[in-house]
Amino acid sequence: MESYKAEYIWIDGTTPTQKLRSKTKIVPLGENPPIWGFDGSSTNQAPGENSDCVLKPVFTCPDPIRLGNDILVMTEVMNTDMTPHVSNTRYACSETEKKYSDFDIWFGIEQEYTLFDGIQPLGWPSNGFPAPQGGYYCGVGADEVFGRPLVEEHLDACLLAGLNISGINAEVMPAQWEFQVGPIGPTAVGDQLWIARWLLYRIGEDHNISATLDPKPVKGDWNGAGCHTNFSTKQMRTSYQPCIDAAEALSKKHELHIKNYGFAIEERLTGLHETASVDKFSYGVSDRGASVRIPWQVNVDGKGYIEDRRPNANMDPYVVANLITDTVCSSAKK
Ligand code: ADP
Ligand code: MN
Ligand code: MN
Ligand code: MN
Repeated sequence: MESYKAEYIWIDGTTPTQKLRSKTKIVPLGENPPIWGFDGSSTNQAPGENSDCVLKPVFTCPDPIRLGNDILVMTEVMNTDMTPHVSNTRYACSETEKKYSDFDIWFGIEQEYTLFDGIQPLGWPSNGFPAPQGGYYCGVGADEVFGRPLVEEHLDACLLAGLNISGINAEVMPAQWEFQVGPIGPTAVGDQLWIARWLLYRIGEDHNISATLDPKPVKGDWNGAGCHTNFSTKQMRTSYQPCIDAAEALSKKHELHIKNYGFAIEERLTGLHETASVDKFSYGVSDRGASVRIPWQVNVDGKGYIEDRRPNANMDPYVVANLITDTVCSSAKK
């Protein structure tokens, strides 16, 4: 019987930062990937004596590594009674998206990450440090840029999978990179970002390079890694005041957002290295030292989107998109 390979991807129960897991199911050609299960006692999701957890397919795309008829399957983890598992953050995000569907909110997320060769950032000297930051951001040349073959392969894989990647760039710290997903809806941006992360780790295996979302992979005078979250409601895309209102709404819930923007956020939001201090909210036009930046073009056009610069690289996009949607839409005037 003809069949295809479905790679089921899920988010586990590891604390303080959840990890990706995946396994393969052979499915008869012509059938959809069915509901499946796994051993939750091996992923911090269930006790050994009652270990079954359920994988519910919620998003599929072509598998850009195996090719052919093979697919990647993003899943939600459910309990055996089909209620959402406590580790399942996607379900709540999709409910919030439905509740505020009138706003047609879009997200564009900038995922920063750092490549490692063993315990060293890729291309760094084995004793000591590379030249100080300054020439690496969007750089070119073997002395400035490390890991481009992997980065290019990852970009091609994301495009082949049909993900809405809007760009990539080399970052301020050598061996640090960024890709951007969006703009698309809150649940979809989460699905696509998690799949893009999975592809990054998976393709890294073939290069013997690991990627980390550690928000501060090298202590000291080196940039951390963030996940700037750009967003717009229908109202923000047509006039300026709703952009300011959104920034004001975020200012009223700074602490709640910081708590949900990724583990060890205080190590990254120091007020240095293009960040704002963790305990004070600020916003401004073109200001990369603010919590929230209004891009200059938005100021000129009098409409568009704003950028929440606070989320860490290791944030959960379902949690962040859910929270921003709720904060901004619940306070907006219709
Ligand atoms: P930066 O100058 O901060 O590095 P990037 O070009 O890396 O900006 O990222 C900008 C992000 O904003 C992209 O992911 C893009 O898709 C997203 N974006 C653009 N327009 C909108 C919009 N109207 N709503 C939400 N996101 C948007
Ligand atoms: Mn960027
Ligand atoms: Mn960046
Ligand atoms: Mn940015």
